[in-house]
Amino acid sequence: MDNHNETEGRLKTTGAASLAELHATKEYILPDEHMKHPVAVIECIEAIPCNPCETACPVHAITVGSEITNLPVIDIETCTGCGLCVAACPGLAIYLKQKEYAKGLSFIAFPFEYVPLPEAGQVIDMVDRHGRVVCKGTVIKVATIKKFNRTAIIHATYPVEQYEQVVNMQRLARD
Ligand code: SF4
Ligand code: SF4
Repeated sequence: MDNHNETEGRLKTTGAASLAELHATKEYILPDEHMKHPVAVIECIEAIPCNPCETACPVHAITVGSEITNLPVIDIETCTGCGLCVAACPGLAIYLKQKEYAKGLSFIAFPFEYVPLPEAGQVIDMVDRHGRVVCKGTVIKVATIKKFNRTAIIHATYPVEQYEQVVNMQRLARD
């Protein structure tokens, strides 16, 4: 459900797709409550020559194919939720999500390239595709391992009612 009236073609005007644009694309797959672990959600709906997501996946759950401008297709039943594609994507267009992570809470793991980084346990402002704050979230973990190419991956929970809207967090103020 698009609760921000995102009916316009925002991909062309803001660089971020609206929910209406995503919903019109068969490659956009949002895992439902039957997934028992986080899996990759790909919001890449422009036909650009790019495929690091495909090559990064150790279990071949993402397919771009021989035509490099194809949109990536995710097989969420194969995805293990390792997060390597999240760190590999130069467009920051992939995150991990699980709808029912805990009672009333969804899970997201998203790339974050700003400092300061949040800390585990910190309450943060969760934002939608256009940077609008939609709810509070709580950081579970900040992963900054070498395998992730030094891109920090923030793990957080947030209210299930905002499952689809939330994609990232608001930047933190510097001291
Ligand atoms: S999270 Fe891991 S297993 Fe899933 S698509 Fe990305 S790289 Fe593949
Ligand atoms: S790496 Fe990112 S930008 Fe490139 S095709 Fe995959 S999802 Fe799209």
